[in-house]
Amino acid sequence: MNNMNIKVPFVDLKLQHQPIQTQLQQAIQTVIEQGDFILGQALKDFETAFAAASGAEYGVGVASGTDAIALGLQACDISPGDEVILPANTFVATLIGVIRAGAKPIFVDCDPQTALIDLEAAARAVTPQTKAIIPVHLYGQMVSPRQLLDFSQTYKVLIFEDAAQAHLAEREGYRAGSVGTAAAFSFYPSKNLGAFGDGGILITRDSEVAQKMIRLRNYGAAQKYIHIESGTNSRLDTMQAAVLHQKLPYLPQWNRDRFNAAQKYDMELAPLASSGITPIQNHSTEGHIYHLYVIRVDHSCVVQRQQLQEELTAVGIQTGIHYPIPCHLQPAFTHLGYHVGDFPNAEMLANQILSLPMYPGLSHSQVKEVVDAIASSLHTEQQKLLLI
Ligand SMILES: *Cc1c(COP(=O)(O)O)cnc(C)c1O
Repeated sequence: MNNMNIKVPFVDLKLQHQPIQTQLQQAIQTVIEQGDFILGQALKDFETAFAAASGAEYGVGVASGTDAIALGLQACDISPGDEVILPANTFVATLIGVIRAGAKPIFVDCDPQTALIDLEAAARAVTPQTKAIIPVHLYGQMVSPRQLLDFSQTYKVLIFEDAAQAHLAEREGYRAGSVGTAAAFSFYPSKNLGAFGDGGILITRDSEVAQKMIRLRNYGAAQKYIHIESGTNSRLDTMQAAVLHQKLPYLPQWNRDRFNAAQKYDMELAPLASSGITPIQNHSTEGHIYHLYVIRVDHSCVVQRQQLQEELTAVGIQTGIHYPIPCHLQPAFTHLGYHVGDFPNAEMLANQILSLPMYPGLSHSQVKEVVDAIASSLHTEQQKLLLI
């Protein structure tokens, strides 16, 4: 399908960039003039600002969200032999981060309504080797901080937040990234705060974790040419940091925009619940920042998920599936020994979920257009059934 036929795109980044284009260009120009492309001043400024906005003390910019997880776990002293609990229904990068840190990933199932990690299942998965739990604040909704802190105290495991989809999300008085020992964020362009390329950050309140992270991203160097551990090269470019810092003040409004669009979706979709179309539930009320707006197409629905997705595409509405295969069933990770049926909720969601268009600037009339198109698919199919 060419661009001309897209009526409601899945995301539209131009809408956020056009109004602040001059200021973004100026920020990039300043970095060019200063020439401090690696570990420059704009990076330090952004690290401080982003950590403060998220309720943490230190920020360490890295090349991607995946590196923020992999190096961040190492910075928290997660090492080979340690077990790390994570939800089966996350983006594969959470898993890759655990494996790169050398730890053993232990999957657990999720809540079928919220798609967030099931902490009761996590409690059953704890062993003497368990060192950490990674709550993934999936789709922009935080896992309950109170329940996480209880869990951490009861089982003596550290919390490492995967906040890659949750920039400035809130719940129970906590910001995403301020609950655990450390938290990883991604600045992939379509994330709620996105760079003009790849980027990520680790934030923490623990100065030792921050210091270790600063070394790990810079070849393990404590100071120039003195390498006290084996690190890597993973720094957030000064230029990307300059762009991100310009965008940061707009993030609360962009998140509110997403929230308002989500409320409109909730309202418009409500009548379709009896037909088997239900949104993933929001238990964090106004703190949900809706990185994605996800519905479930239940097996009882007259149209199946794939058919609905195809019919929406045909009328110019772009959708996505986040994610179609849970981590424990990914071909690269069969050696971990998991099988179909191990995590019924994660597997059910993988088969039923559909992400609808969601971005700041998505209008209420576009939301209505999307829901009308869904209703029309259901109606057409119901009519066909009546004729048989
Ligand atoms: C995007 C994402 C990541 C990885 O971030 P990258 O910057 O793409 O490496 C990790 N976890 C989750 C939940 C994500 O959505």
